[in-house]
Amino acid sequence: VDRKIVSPNDGSIVRVVPDASSTDIKEATRSARAAFPTWSAMPANDRAAVMHTAAAQVRAETDSLAMLMSSEMGKPIKQARSEAANVADLIDFFAEEGLRIAGEIPKLDLKNELPLVVKEPVGVVAAISPFNYPIALLTWKLGPALITGCTVVAKPDEHAPSAAMRLAEIFSSAHLPDGVFQVVTGAAEVGAALVESPDVDKVAFTGSVPVGRIVAASAMASNKRVTLELGGQCPAIIGRGADLDAVLPPLVTHTFNNSGQYCYRINRIYVDQSLSDEFTSRFVEAVSRLRMGVSTESGTDIGPLCHEDIVLRSLSHVADARERGGRVLIGGDRATGEHFEAGWFMQPTVIDRATQDMLVMQEETFGPVVGITEVSSMQESIELANDSIYGLAAYVFTGDTGEGLQAALRLAAGSVWVNGVKKSYPQCPFGGYKASGLGREKSHYGLDEYLELKSIYLQLPKL
Ligand code: NAD
Repeated sequence: VDRKIVSPNDGSIVRVVPDASSTDIKEATRSARAAFPTWSAMPANDRAAVMHTAAAQVRAETDSLAMLMSSEMGKPIKQARSEAANVADLIDFFAEEGLRIAGEIPKLDLKNELPLVVKEPVGVVAAISPFNYPIALLTWKLGPALITGCTVVAKPDEHAPSAAMRLAEIFSSAHLPDGVFQVVTGAAEVGAALVESPDVDKVAFTGSVPVGRIVAASAMASNKRVTLELGGQCPAIIGRGADLDAVLPPLVTHTFNNSGQYCYRINRIYVDQSLSDEFTSRFVEAVSRLRMGVSTESGTDIGPLCHEDIVLRSLSHVADARERGGRVLIGGDRATGEHFEAGWFMQPTVIDRATQDMLVMQEETFGPVVGITEVSSMQESIELANDSIYGLAAYVFTGDTGEGLQAALRLAAGSVWVNGVKKSYPQCPFGGYKASGLGREKSHYGLDEYLELKSIYLQLPKL
């Protein structure tokens, strides 16, 4: 079956990609299984060399990979370029970090016996990823899988598969052996078939909480290893004495980047009453300066949402907030104007007087809507921040660094930024508490998710 990839900018058909059939899925998983013994037996340095060659090619193709992503899922082109550049860096990072993996020899001083702990690759990995970072999130899986000796069948999101397909071609031209990394295209059925496949040993999934639960249950039913990177509903706390000049730029960025379509975006803001009026008016003013436009044009800060369901969900969160007494300070509706009529554009929206029972404060909008609540203490902020099924990331800004660290220690989240947001470094693990996930990606902890541990009890001859 052919699938039409529709432009979120104007509803036109960008390209047509065939859905994988059940035979395609079987062939892909079987060839991944067949490629595993050779790939995993190759010296790690040789695997790293292939990865570095591919990374260089990704770097050379930054612009065209960015255009593929931006045209299919609506990411502003400058953000798409930084995703592609980041992917090249990530491949290099995993290739290097993977060479530092080591086992262990416990010092037990046994007579004629030496226990050894060795690490082995888990096998064939099904990597299922969402639309919002079409190749970065795949690389979080592909990088550790390849360097540890696993083989990969990836299923990118059905709205934006082309950059992942190109990535597979790039690896192939970097002389990655056949079968080591393949991409199958399609939607839920293709993902589900991969998770059920007897030739798959591990499922690495990034996506929403409801789908993550289905994937985990299915993977568990056939005893597969699983890592889950799921949704977020991330709080930002603006405490007393926070330097608003420093707070505002990263706060606007991490609320509205990628039109709010990313897992660790800021969904809700708890601001101390001493700063509340000034913060809110300056925040709204900064939001009013974001340039909405066609995603592939260079000046665009906010592009369209990937598909209409996200517009409808964003609108429903706004309507719910209005009904519960929230005040829409800016935005609140679809974007109007001739450039926006045919696409999935939603105005960046700020709601104050938000209460904890509102959808915008409890559910993942995954669109450009944010709620603001005034609070009277750091303690109150932390309690409200933790009142969520999610626990992916949190942000704290305060004039007192000690208070910021205390808050970070008390927030139930896998990553907490204090008094600034630069990036999430590849050396630091990323993942969620509570419903936000299982396991970690990136860093040496992320590599461990692709390794089995084996204890060997070696009897030695007497000397
Ligand atoms: P989604 O869960 O709808 O889809 C994710 C992927 O799963 C897609 O490739 C989809 O085709 C596939 N899929 C759907 N049903 C399936 C099934 N039954 N079995 C197997 N695969 C199936 O998510 P989405 O809307 O594309 O992406 C947004 C979600 O991803 C948000 O919740 C977001 O927070 C989350 N996300 C999390 C992280 C993280 O690192 N924690 C990063 C990015 C996005």
